[in-house]
Amino acid sequence: MRLTVLGCAGSFPGPDSPCSAYLVEAEGFRLLVDFGSGALSTLQRYAGLHAPDAILLTHLHCDHMLDAASYVVVRRYAPDGPYPALPMYAPSGAPDRLALAYGQEDSTVEDVYQFYGLQPGTFPIGPFTVTVDRMNHPIETYGVRLEHDGRVLCYSSDTAPCEALLRLAQDADVFLCEASYLDGVENPPDLHLTGREAGEAATKAGVGRLLLTHLVAAWGSEALTVEAAGTTYDGPLEVVRAGACYDV
Ligand SMILES: [Zn+2]
Repeated sequence: MRLTVLGCAGSFPGPDSPCSAYLVEAEGFRLLVDFGSGALSTLQRYAGLHAPDAILLTHLHCDHMLDAASYVVVRRYAPDGPYPALPMYAPSGAPDRLALAYGQEDSTVEDVYQFYGLQPGTFPIGPFTVTVDRMNHPIETYGVRLEHDGRVLCYSSDTAPCEALLRLAQDADVFLCEASYLDGVENPPDLHLTGREAGEAATKAGVGRLLLTHLVAAWGSEALTVEAAGTTYDGPLEVVRAGACYDV
């Protein structure tokens, strides 16, 4: 599997990155996991306007899904289009939310997306075996485990510490984990992880490599987040950047 980070900024776009969007490729099939604000730009820069063969939205916070509404124009009104409906795996409210975000309450986006409602379990998307489970976040949110050819990539989406995250990440080769919060300050519960907590999850799950994401550039500190994660995880770790590629 090959992971390309299209966007990794937490909560709102940062000066150097769009919000969450990750392209995962195997056997020529490209699955876009999350499509946050601004990621339509880096999709074109790092992959191509029509690169995704399927999309999975982990939850319907706008920093994880808003450019899926912008993408309606790309598919529906392309000079060489319209393009066929793209498989879209997402929480059950996605069809209405995307139609509303697109701006026409009286119409749907179901000509652009073929929707499949997520629920905890394992299912195939293209060449990937996908397992999703509910995370500890205020709305319906899924962490994702992608398996292909004996390799495992786990993505936390947004979550506070929870057992389901540890199960999803168990023995993953690469663990792409959010670290939105700074340690040592009072953070709201049941929302996000700190660097220390991301490291703890990585250690408990026995992952091979920890990639930290969803840092909030304006409010956080990359150096402090990495330092905190390093106190609880002693394997290789780094903060991802838009445009970075990883072979899993
Ligand atoms: Zn969220």
